[in-house]
Amino acid sequence: MVDSNSEVPQQGTKVSIGTWNMDHWKRTVQQRMDAWEYLGSKAGADIMLLQESGVPAGISRSRYVHRELAGSRPWGSAVVACSDAADLELKEIDAVRTRYGSTRFSMLGSTPGAVIVARADVPGIGPITCISVYGVINVYAQTTMYRIVADLIPLFDSSDGERVVLGGDFNVTDAIRRDSVELPRYRAILNAVESLGLVNLARVAHERPDPIPDCPCGEKHCYHLHTYNWGGNQGTQLDWLYATPDLAKHCTGIRLDHEVFGKLSDHAPIVADFNVVSEAPLRIVDPESFVKELGARSGPECARTADELIAWALRKHESLPRGQRRMPAYDRFYFSTDVKDPQMWFQLDLNYPDDVQWTFSFTTSGTVRIQFRYMQEPFDLMEARERIWSEINQIPGVDLDRRLTGLPSIPIQCLANPETRTRFERVFSDMIEETIRARLNLE
Ligand SMILES: [Zn+2]
Repeated sequence: MVDSNSEVPQQGTKVSIGTWNMDHWKRTVQQRMDAWEYLGSKAGADIMLLQESGVPAGISRSRYVHRELAGSRPWGSAVVACSDAADLELKEIDAVRTRYGSTRFSMLGSTPGAVIVARADVPGIGPITCISVYGVINVYAQTTMYRIVADLIPLFDSSDGERVVLGGDFNVTDAIRRDSVELPRYRAILNAVESLGLVNLARVAHERPDPIPDCPCGEKHCYHLHTYNWGGNQGTQLDWLYATPDLAKHCTGIRLDHEVFGKLSDHAPIVADFNVVSEAPLRIVDPESFVKELGARSGPECARTADELIAWALRKHESLPRGQRRMPAYDRFYFSTDVKDPQMWFQLDLNYPDDVQWTFSFTTSGTVRIQFRYMQEPFDLMEARERIWSEINQIPGVDLDRRLTGLPSIPIQCLANPETRTRFERVFSDMIEETIRARLNLE
């Protein structure tokens, strides 16, 4: 392994993640066994993103996520923790929530078995989202690849989008002749993959294999990796490996193994070595990630109370009246993260982003802030705010400053008791309904 910093050796945590199309269906039983033996010993990877793979019996359930393509393809994509030694846990990410609302997006994709999305908890580094991609050819691989990219967009707007490694056999390449009719589309697909917020590791790794001999791309600075042979002898690249920028900058090298190429599979495995210097900061974009941070800073009781109020807000959202044109929403929330004390706001979207009614917010230091300062019609009037203040202040154990143009706060713990919390919820439930009655014509 090569150190990325030649001047001052930085202490970091090493992890190697690769991709390999195992060519399961064209291999003999013995070759399949040898390939898995290779993954566990000589591949030199902690995690592999596999395609055209079948997982043999006997591998612990916590070490792989795999789905079959089914139909005429009894094999599929997988994410596998290769070495027993590494203390790695893998978990499938079934669905994600984005920063834009409570709607969840399935990660099974338009072609289940083609894409596997898994979270690897790497000691010393934290969670890395691993995505194995297979550009299934149904006449075209292009159409599959566009769907795969589209299906993955929400992941990159979720709390799992911070540190991602994506790799696989796309069956799409720009390591082809410049006059190929497919080239513009293939380039657009590779650009679409990068547009998710990914960096091609072959372009940034400090150490990398030689480019493809006589690469058909004809570029002066060819960055292609020799992972496949067209028609038996012309080298090309069908397999790709990307990471989000924060991980990519810690990539010390890329390896290709041509020893197993043509023997255990018709594709060569690519492995990227990372030396990660710090744990990723928690990315707060959804209620789960916020509550996790709240719990870490202010204790499990605060986290539980916050969870109850979030569950109330989502129930309230479901019960809101829906008009033909207007759909008020109370499920988007809003998060500020790049601050000392991250905050989560509860606001009624009347006509987002122009018209919003602010209610209250949580801080990770364990307070609930009443958003008097920003309250809109009909709670722009002091009498209306006074009513809310008085109702909150009458809740046993609650003492709220009477600052009707400010952001007075109470400890979240005041609301741990279910009866107390129910009274608090009722105040804001009434406020939301009053706002909708006054502001929205839902006829
Ligand atoms: Zn090239």
